[in-house]
Amino acid sequence: MSEKYDIGLGNNNDDLRKQANSDFVSFWSDQAKNLLWFSTWQKTLDWRPPFAKWFVGGKINASYNALDVHQNTKYDKPAILWEGENGDSRILTYGDLFIEVQKFANVLKSLGVKKGDRVTIYLPMVPELPITMLACARIGAIHTVIFSGFSVESIRDRIDDSKSKIVVTADGGYRRGKIVKLKEVVDEAIHDFEFVEHVVVLERTKNKISILPKDKLWNDLMATASDSCDAEKLDSDHPLYILYTSGTTGKPKGVLHGTGGYLTHLYSTFKWAFDIKDSDIFFCTADIGWVTGHSYVVYAPLLHGATQIMYEGAPDFPDMSRMWHILEKYRVSIFYTTPTALRMFMKFGDDIPNSFNLSSLRLLGTVGEPINPEVWRWYYKIIGKEKCPIIDTWWQTETGGIMISPLPGLETIPLKPGSATLPIPGIDISVVDEFGSEVPPNTKGYLIIKNPWPGMLLTLWGNDKKYKNVYWSKYSNCYYPGDYALKDSDGYLWLLGRADDILKIAGHRIGTAELESCIASDYSVAESAVCGIPDDIKGEVIIVFAVLKDGVTTDKTILEKNLFNKIRTDIGPIATPKQIYFVSKLPKTRSGKIMRRLLKSIASGEKIGDTSTLDDPSAVAEIQKIVTQI
Ligand code: ATP
Ligand code: MG
Repeated sequence: MSEKYDIGLGNNNDDLRKQANSDFVSFWSDQAKNLLWFSTWQKTLDWRPPFAKWFVGGKINASYNALDVHQNTKYDKPAILWEGENGDSRILTYGDLFIEVQKFANVLKSLGVKKGDRVTIYLPMVPELPITMLACARIGAIHTVIFSGFSVESIRDRIDDSKSKIVVTADGGYRRGKIVKLKEVVDEAIHDFEFVEHVVVLERTKNKISILPKDKLWNDLMATASDSCDAEKLDSDHPLYILYTSGTTGKPKGVLHGTGGYLTHLYSTFKWAFDIKDSDIFFCTADIGWVTGHSYVVYAPLLHGATQIMYEGAPDFPDMSRMWHILEKYRVSIFYTTPTALRMFMKFGDDIPNSFNLSSLRLLGTVGEPINPEVWRWYYKIIGKEKCPIIDTWWQTETGGIMISPLPGLETIPLKPGSATLPIPGIDISVVDEFGSEVPPNTKGYLIIKNPWPGMLLTLWGNDKKYKNVYWSKYSNCYYPGDYALKDSDGYLWLLGRADDILKIAGHRIGTAELESCIASDYSVAESAVCGIPDDIKGEVIIVFAVLKDGVTTDKTILEKNLFNKIRTDIGPIATPKQIYFVSKLPKTRSGKIMRRLLKSIASGEKIGDTSTLDDPSAVAEIQKIVTQI
């Protein structure tokens, strides 16, 4: 952990940290002034644990802050440089987006959508997706976006939970060269939902669809819609959206976010973490179906009037060079992706990225899972050519925005591969034991957040009880994210994996991230996942699932022996696995996160629970086969 990288941008603003430490409420009040409010708030924070209301009495609109505020200065500036999977491209300026959003807001009104009504959006990564979200925000409707890779049951559950009046979908979307027939999925999912009044259908692929009585075509509706629609003046805590979590640890939860606090959090973190400048070309690879896409594809870049890339398809289509191609073509300066994507790129070697001109890059971000130091170094060296800071951002659907991250737009600090570094200003984070006492430095424990923050979820949709239970019952008046962590002697935070996934081996606690990083640092391994299964003597024993790098042909028994030795030397004999399985892929959520709970169930011969967010069922089938054979 002594390895440090001193690469700052020369920004140093100690005053902000000082102010945040002395009074986080007035600190956030100052940050909120960066937005445009129709009327200012009377009270910055109304905190009735565990419910927080930010900027009480203030009136604001998200769509207004994303679009109207830029019309005088950025009318012709590209907001979205869109690239279709098949090579199509579109440019939408701030002026274009403004017109389209107002038109679609009028369409929604004409379909009877009122303030507070829910609108489900099940669209591919096309500009109409942010347009629909911003149109909802404009009239105070609550959007609920469902990732376009989900199938009937997952959509049905979510639409039923949110009781959406309208569903906006497309005839299809492109994914790895194939058409995903979204409309067919919607038809089946909602066939008996009387509360759904209309289905708006965008023709993206022009594949044949059946037009049912509730269906209306996007183009027909837009053709006659007026392009002027004033933004509603909404209360600061008016709900902006419901979004379901990734489902890595269990059934997805319907997270409800508000407006004024959420936008304040996004505006600030985008500036601090990504040091955004007018000249930047920002590219976040997240699908808008996940929170990273909501916060850092749709809202944060638009609040700042930034230009960004929006890519429709799979990152490995038509081949492993697609991302680097986009970075080179558009001269991307800030790139934000996930450890899972980076591990996939790494698996195929350095030659592919090395054959592209990536010199426009200046900042590299990551989010979604702990980034193994090995992957961090690869990202830093091969993609960033040792000149771009790695911005490892820890946050959750529930936190709304980044909570722990290097902040090159605010300060210069040394980076340590694998650490998300420090909490953002105004956030009080600790690492504690079972009883809530802070653990000494370099001791593992549970991450907790001790005060409310502006991007904090309002509640779980329609389920205050579950909200209290999941996040606020383990420690009194502290938010419990469910992650395992360690704070080192410099105060840097190291995220060690899910609290549910901690391995307890003969009384020792080992985070999945520590062990997986050790395994991933072996030359032969592209990625790995570990889980513990019950054992009569040790309490729990470790099972390793490893995916080898492309082209590794060494005998499996030799590889296995090497890995056993490596784990014994790097972590200790206590962590020696009971079994190492070599598999061709790991079970992941559709957002790319490893589902260790499935591995645990398979390895211990139990039933596997909710798999609604599982990406590729063949990964589970393969592992089931391998585990039962050995
Ligand atoms: P569910 O709550 O339904 O199980 P999920 O937690 O995967 O799903 P998200 O809100 O998308 O849903 O993910 C947040 C989680 O992702 C965090 O709690 C953490 O475990 C992990 N995570 C995100 N960013 C990082 C990071 N930079 N380092 C380590 N872990 C991260
Ligand atoms: Mg979670």
